[in-house]
Amino acid sequence: MQSTMQDVPLTVARILAHGARIHGSAQVTTWTGDGAPQRRSFAEVGGRATQLAHALRTLGVAEGEPVATLMWNNAEHVEAYLAVPSMGAVLHTLNLRLPPEQLVWIVRHAADRVVLVNGSLLPLLAPLLPHLDCVEHVVVSGPGDRSALAGVRPQVHEYEDLVAGHPADHYPWPELDERQAAALCYTSGTTGDPKGVVYSHRSIYLHAMEVNAAASFGLTPAEVCLPVVPMFHVNAWGLPHAAFMAGTSLLMPDRFLQPAPLADMIESERPTVSAGVPTIWQGLLAELDARPRDMTSLRTVISGGSACPPSLMKAFEERHGLTLVQAWGMTETSPLGSVAFPPAGLSGEEAWPYRITQGRMPASVEARLVGPGGDVLPWDGRSAGELEVRGPWIAAAYHGGADGEPHRPEDKFSGDGWLRTGDVGTICPEGFLTLTDRAKDVIKSGGEWISSVELENHLMAHPEVAEAAVVAVPDEKWGERPLAVVVLKDDSAVGYEGLRAFLGERVARWQLPERWSLVATVPKTSVGKFDKKALRRSYADGELVVTTLG
Ligand code: ADP
Repeated sequence: MQSTMQDVPLTVARILAHGARIHGSAQVTTWTGDGAPQRRSFAEVGGRATQLAHALRTLGVAEGEPVATLMWNNAEHVEAYLAVPSMGAVLHTLNLRLPPEQLVWIVRHAADRVVLVNGSLLPLLAPLLPHLDCVEHVVVSGPGDRSALAGVRPQVHEYEDLVAGHPADHYPWPELDERQAAALCYTSGTTGDPKGVVYSHRSIYLHAMEVNAAASFGLTPAEVCLPVVPMFHVNAWGLPHAAFMAGTSLLMPDRFLQPAPLADMIESERPTVSAGVPTIWQGLLAELDARPRDMTSLRTVISGGSACPPSLMKAFEERHGLTLVQAWGMTETSPLGSVAFPPAGLSGEEAWPYRITQGRMPASVEARLVGPGGDVLPWDGRSAGELEVRGPWIAAAYHGGADGEPHRPEDKFSGDGWLRTGDVGTICPEGFLTLTDRAKDVIKSGGEWISSVELENHLMAHPEVAEAAVVAVPDEKWGERPLAVVVLKDDSAVGYEGLRAFLGERVARWQLPERWSLVATVPKTSVGKFDKKALRRSYADGELVVTTLG
């Protein structure tokens, strides 16, 4: 028997048309820092996206061609998110916090010809242009001194001038195959060279539907979503697409990602949902402790990108009445891989053991744990292995290997097509994933594995600790041992011995670090995670002042 259903492609153009028409009065509000946020309706943003598509066509942008963005979270970036894939081109979000040489590498690797850039980021882009022969057009939007672009080789356009005069109500949107490339995002390179993941229209569409599902983030037209996660970090976790689909208004922080303006914008614009990495929430907590603001609009704060310390979740709940929900994902997983809502009927203390896990996979994401010998491990909550996943929004390969074809490195993809996440953990019989570490961060001490995440979580629960990162360092006797790198709060009097005693009450003796270092701040990656690669390098180069306890 054959299916009798229609086969309609799932495309970003559908999301654009739907949001602009059905949810035309929803808003994209961009924080400007001057007390007068910029406000555009979805109808306006949709119209401007249509104009942008026309404008890009005048620059010769062809189907399948990448169009790069070097932009903060703002309305113009949303316009590019919608326009570029809808016209059949590929949105390539550039991570503005990468070191210049990595940015140059990525733009050249993707062969970007057109770059959309915010005026405030010209000091970053302009010095790179002499190294970017492929770039022919630079399109500038928003405030910022343009003088850095004087005399550069590519043609420079003002975004507003370029879109002006083009029709906002129609464009010959091409009939696209839903499997066509829609967006390109390079991994942030926390553990190696950046690798390009190419999302399809279908993967973006299905992922946005899952983000909106009640079992995930449950966005509705009654809500306002504040993506603190940058739009260059895995499509802002799919939130802009999901919001346009659901009619959820967006509050965009632009470049105001520091704790004080974030607290201000939450108080005045009253978002209901927000999302970001734990270090953002750690910063916001300190800000709110010092100067409380009205946070009562927020029903859910999503924390993902690295392990969320349970002490942080508790502190938000007890001191500010805010619920942090942990989610796990990667650039390769679009990123939604799992969300930690407790099983039905559990609340308070009963829910807690589930909420501090990485959560459960949605129906479209299959998971398995693989042991060191390649055997698939049971979901018994004890057997630890590498997490492998597969599903319609999970990468099957990376962009552009040496021969220009997608490539599938063996350490990243299994022979039977699953993504090897590089994350190590357990899954309990009810399906809750608990990650103990990244495979590269696990501390292998005398044949036993020590979880750096577990030590960090305990240390960060100490009331006088602001940040703590634990990394493996070489040890003659044990192979590797943990080094604890700690940032103390300003008025702290606790010493190494005190911290070790605190930890000693919570973990086995053999796991206790001997080596300790107090620092002013833990280095962060380009997306705000603890940069363990940098810490290991600082230790190896003798740059850290380390105290060894007997
Ligand atoms: P990068 O690999 O450059 O850091 P990604 O954002 O793709 O960029 O990182 C994905 C990784 O982040 C995951 O493989 C995992 O190690 C980590 N991660 C994401 N969410 C969580 C979480 N909730 N708990 C623990 N680790 C997480």
